[in-house]
Amino acid sequence: MSSDILLNELQKYGIEYKKDHSLKEHCTFHVSGTCELAIFPSDTEQFVFALRVLDNLGVEFCICGRGSNTLFADEYINKAIVFTENCNAVRIDRDMIKASSGASLIRVANLAAENGLSGMEFASGIPGSIGGAVYMNAGAYSSCMSDVIVKSSAYSRKEQKIMTVEEHCFSYRSSIYKENSDLICLDAEIKLTHSNVDVVRKKMRELSEYRRSKQPIEFPSAGSYFKRPGSDFAGRLIEECGLKGMRVGDAEISVKHAGFIINRGNASFDDILRLEEIVKAKVLADFGVELEREVEIVR
Ligand SMILES: Cc1cc2nc3c(=O)[nH]c(=O)nc-3n(C[C@H](O)[C@H](O)[C@H](O)COP(=O)(O)OP(=O)(O)OC[C@H]3O[C@@H](n4cnc5c(N)ncnc54)[C@H](O)[C@@H]3O)c2cc1C
Repeated sequence: MSSDILLNELQKYGIEYKKDHSLKEHCTFHVSGTCELAIFPSDTEQFVFALRVLDNLGVEFCICGRGSNTLFADEYINKAIVFTENCNAVRIDRDMIKASSGASLIRVANLAAENGLSGMEFASGIPGSIGGAVYMNAGAYSSCMSDVIVKSSAYSRKEQKIMTVEEHCFSYRSSIYKENSDLICLDAEIKLTHSNVDVVRKKMRELSEYRRSKQPIEFPSAGSYFKRPGSDFAGRLIEECGLKGMRVGDAEISVKHAGFIINRGNASFDDILRLEEIVKAKVLADFGVELEREVEIVR
């Protein structure tokens, strides 16, 4: 990493950064690695500046939203990581919400509810950022981001552009941002439907109670660890294999929901990956189904 020039540029623009930064608090799995450089732009303008400097200097980097679909290696990661958490402006205009990449999905869902807008209820329990949710096409209870996104602004090495809804190429847990690593989401515009505050809040409460009853949200995890295989559920297959409660170190197949790998305390990166391999092998042997990891790995 050409660190002196990079750090000078970041300083010149007043962008916060930390060297040798622990990642434990940036990942809902609570697996602790350290990255060489953590960069914290305070708004979209600083975000774009940081990306441009990194690109111009050829520095290897990745983006972290709320770290709720990421597993960091618990070692030294020789990369710069740009955290979007402070790029969190949210603006509402009638039935439209414009949110910067790092805005919390839960906050946006709550804002929609306060304003009697329906459409974001599904996201009220998803602990990600807008950027991460667009990247993943996050979804739940038969709704997903592609139902509400109308456009987004994207940074790429070549240009900054507005992405129309079609250009997002949304599919199950994927979008153009995931397919093309050159593209980074700066903000997104969401179109909702006028409804009634009480009706929206009631739906959110019901979904939240359902989530609490079905998912081990009391333990660190990254949500569903595997993608849905076709029209089936990874959790169902894993449960039928008799793997509920199976542990490698402190990594465990949740007893409450077999689709979740949870951290019972001090799970290491290797514990989680070894458990993943065991699950994949058993599901393949018993059902002939190849499970695919949904969680993203940074090492
Ligand atoms: C308890 C729990 C429940 C969950 N429930 C659900 C659920 O119901 N449905 C669901 O879909 N997911 C769920 N998840 C997973 C996760 O919350 C979502 O995938 C979320 O969208 C990830 O957002 P994030 O900001 O945390 O992404 P991160 O984990 O920070 O990043 C994920 C990926 O997105 C990329 N990324 C992040 N921001 C940007 C950006 N601005 N531009 C380009 N790329 C970017 C990162 O580089 C990384 O590759 C759950 C997770 C937990 C812990």
